[in-house]
Amino acid sequence: MSGGNGVGFDDLLAANEEFAGSFALQGFDGVARAGVAVVTCMDSRIDPLGMIGLKPGDAKIFRNPGGRVDGSALEALVLGVHLLNVQRVLVVPHTRCAMASRSQQELRTIIGESAGQDASWQSFHVVGDQLDALAQDVAKVRSHPLIPDTVQVGGFMYDVDTGLLTQHG
Ligand SMILES: [Zn+2]
Repeated sequence: MSGGNGVGFDDLLAANEEFAGSFALQGFDGVARAGVAVVTCMDSRIDPLGMIGLKPGDAKIFRNPGGRVDGSALEALVLGVHLLNVQRVLVVPHTRCAMASRSQQELRTIIGESAGQDASWQSFHVVGDQLDALAQDVAKVRSHPLIPDTVQVGGFMYDVDTGLLTQHG
């Protein structure tokens, strides 16, 4: 039941029982009902549905460190477009992202100290220039041979201090 650090999952499972008690999402077919997919960072300051006025069932959400369009993000988008009703794709990095404020070497040092283990082998896909990376990521989606031109693709920077999105391409 409990994990290695003894905290366990009881609090979360209790909350889940309450959630299931008033569960209203049954019968969904798993499509993105608003036709939207969002690629964004794992950062806990981001509410990817709430920030664009959507609710559960409306959108496909793909998250990773930095909100980058990597191979598995592209895989998710191809599936979303062809099987799950996705017609608009938003790529959304954010201000004050940890992946854009440290070098890979710095992260390896910090993680290595935290783990008490050598972390020099672990890749951390840090971002130098976020807007440059965003332009590249949007281009990757737009030019993907399995994502048709009818799909709208936009790049947006999310400001974690104001909640506002600003379009960049
Ligand atoms: Zn981030």
